[in-house]
Amino acid sequence: MQREKHDVVIFGSGPAALSLALFLNKHKVDVAVAITNPLKSFWKYDITQSAGVSDVINELGVHPILDTKKAVLQYKKNVAGTEYKEISDLYFKRYSEDSLDSSLFSKLIKASIPFYVVDDSFEISSVDGKNVKEITARLKSGDKLLFKSDVLVLAGGSEMRLPKNLRYTEKVFSRFYGEGIVTQGHLFDETRIVFDNNLFPGGYLYAGSTSDETFFCAVSSVGNPEFLKQYPSFLSTLFQESFEGDIKTIFSGVGVSGYRFSEYSNLFFIGGAAFLHDPIFGYGLNYALLSAHILSRAIVLDNFSLFTNFYEKTVSQFNDMLSFKSILRDPEEAELKKLFSLLSGEPVEDDKINSFYDLFLS
Ligand SMILES: Cc1cc2nc3c(=O)[nH]c(=O)nc-3n(C[C@H](O)[C@H](O)[C@H](O)COP(=O)(O)OP(=O)(O)OC[C@H]3O[C@@H](n4cnc5c(N)ncnc54)[C@H](O)[C@@H]3O)c2cc1C
Repeated sequence: MQREKHDVVIFGSGPAALSLALFLNKHKVDVAVAITNPLKSFWKYDITQSAGVSDVINELGVHPILDTKKAVLQYKKNVAGTEYKEISDLYFKRYSEDSLDSSLFSKLIKASIPFYVVDDSFEISSVDGKNVKEITARLKSGDKLLFKSDVLVLAGGSEMRLPKNLRYTEKVFSRFYGEGIVTQGHLFDETRIVFDNNLFPGGYLYAGSTSDETFFCAVSSVGNPEFLKQYPSFLSTLFQESFEGDIKTIFSGVGVSGYRFSEYSNLFFIGGAAFLHDPIFGYGLNYALLSAHILSRAIVLDNFSLFTNFYEKTVSQFNDMLSFKSILRDPEEAELKKLFSLLSGEPVEDDKINSFYDLFLS
């Protein structure tokens, strides 16, 4: 059996794991990453502009594209084709050197951060009171690998397979199944968000174009396999336009919103593995980067309350968001009118709508 010792060992192959490794390496912390192969990334990663995320992106030295577009919210039942203000989107393209995962991975190699290619089964092999001491993983070659580390981080996304004897607590607020298609050609000048509870229960359809491609991402709490099977006729009915682009790629995955934390004091979940997705849209990239950044500071300063405070605050914000879920998903006609008044810059006298706007759309 191969044996390795590092101050910090991270399990995960996505943005949370890779960015944490880079932040720690910058502070000369001895860190290693256990990654699964192949690396996975989504075609397009929008970054919602939550507080602090721009600084984190700058510090990582990655370069998202800035794209400002008008957004159109469509409601099947209430109002169709309602326009709202311009939104500024930061995003990374997939299958290019500038995709987020490729950029982070090449930085990892450049910084000579050790990484081990493992399968997704691993187990805690020894503990000391409230601390995990050793963890055993399996290398792709089939050999066993024993890690010793002071801090262990699980960053394998919301569907990560967890060891049996891992003592943790979790709660799910919402679960999002995302199924998407990228087609050839620029089809829209604006970004479209369609809410229709019959077609996307608990979710929405998100569609937009770059200069040469268009993407459609169906998000719902139950998944919508019909979307991928019959997408041209499905979309034509929905938008009353025809769609002729060739499919370049399809993508899918699950995002879970809620909380998950371990009772072990030296073991931390970050990003999707910590269920850090907002409970209305399922956005999680900003939380993956922020949680990695804050955990890196907590490790460097040996002050883990920095991370637990951030985590508790975020989960409590998710709770606030949950109480507004129906306003965007299935609004009353009057609520929708007030919401669009706010979006077009007119003040409204409704505390609930104002708080909702501040939380999501301001
Ligand atoms: C279809 C879809 C579209 C999305 N679009 C957006 C978007 O536009 N904007 C946004 O903000 N969010 C989006 N999200 C959410 C976003 O993808 C996640 O929040 C983000 O990827 C979380 O990053 P992460 O590094 O924590 O986990 P992931 O990106 O899930 O990466 C975890 C990686 O670790 C690997 N892994 C699992 N187990 C192990 C193990 N034991 N050892 C090593 N590696 C392991 C996994 O295979 C995976 O590659 C989308 C989600 C889906 C499903």
